Amino acid sequence: MDIKALDRQYVANTYGRADVVFVSGRGAEILDEQGNRYIDLGAGIAVNSFGVADPVWAKAVTEQLGRLQHMSNLYYTEPCVKLAKLICERTGFKKVFFGNSGAEANECAIKTARKWAFDRYGDESHSTIITLKNSFHGRTITTLSATGQEAFHTKFGPFTPGFVHASAQDAGEVRAFAEKDNCCAVMIELVQGEGGVVPLTREYVDEVVKIAKEHDLLLIVDEVQTGNGRTGTLYAFEQFGFMPDIVSTAKGLGGGLPLGACLLGEKVERTLGAGDHGSTFGGNPVSCAGALSILERIDDELLADVRRKGEYVKAALTGAKGVKSVTGLGLMTGILTDKPAGEVAKAALKRGVVVLTAHEKVRLVPPLTITDEQLEKAIEILKEVIGE
Ligand SMILES: *Cc1c(COP(=O)(O)O)cnc(C)c1O
Repeated sequence: MDIKALDRQYVANTYGRADVVFVSGRGAEILDEQGNRYIDLGAGIAVNSFGVADPVWAKAVTEQLGRLQHMSNLYYTEPCVKLAKLICERTGFKKVFFGNSGAEANECAIKTARKWAFDRYGDESHSTIITLKNSFHGRTITTLSATGQEAFHTKFGPFTPGFVHASAQDAGEVRAFAEKDNCCAVMIELVQGEGGVVPLTREYVDEVVKIAKEHDLLLIVDEVQTGNGRTGTLYAFEQFGFMPDIVSTAKGLGGGLPLGACLLGEKVERTLGAGDHGSTFGGNPVSCAGALSILERIDDELLADVRRKGEYVKAALTGAKGVKSVTGLGLMTGILTDKPAGEVAKAALKRGVVVLTAHEKVRLVPPLTITDEQLEKAIEILKEVIGE
């Protein structure tokens, strides 16, 4: 069976796929159709937190699968309750809304912020949300509006109104929007992932937090990519010294199954009531059972390991031949190379290393559990490819 040809014939043409069919794997090693082995520095776009077919995760998932795969949110089920409790205990958030993706988690964050403002002002006068230039928040019509990149604001209009985009470098732009007195929230990624793995500076974030306080704005942090251990703390906000009002997350949370979550802080824990929001698949027992097995193992030891491995990657690549700059946090790295990033990714794949791109950068988001040996080997190959 020619999978590539059949994909081109029958699957919607929304993806420019790399020239490989993956069939199996274990941890950070994956195998293609021909049995070629690859070291995975992409983790399915920061999704496979513990790599492929992690046995503990697979056991949790299959046991739940054999008991109850879905009952809808009309009834109580155990896995989503356990997961919500664990997330709240580990973060200080009060409640969790579960969806299936990052965009859906952000939709919940946006609806919550607008409802909070509606409750506060009695009308929709404060519905505007400030987001940042170069951000990425998803592919729905509303999350495209939230995304601060002009390239995403064509072809599919009319887009959802009520978003303004401020500089991610100069907090003055955030302040100027906040002073217009029609906003309810600021929504930021602490490391702009799709935008090229660009961390915000601590000074900038401090300033935004201050502006939000002064102007009574909710602070929403999109941790779809940075969350769940990726940056070396359970959530990235922990490294920036503030407590957001809302955090959205997804990608690595489910360990490979679709799961998104919107974490609600004190100010907004009662904002959404019965009937205000929902999702048929949200909080699916199988996804949640898997997520629980992931989150339980993202402990201090693993997080220290993520930070150590991240430092190693940064040190190994900084100043290497063909490398212009290295940015990132924890095991989330962006590399600006002399060669176009797409070319590097293609050549690395041929040499058995899977990497991603983000804008003009090569992006590395390996499984958190990648071994030192795998990481060193993959980085050596990548350095050769970049320097050739
Ligand atoms: C990937 C991503 C999203 C979108 O998530 P989906 O699961 O594809 O809907 C939103 N925000 C950020 C920061 C992301 O990295």
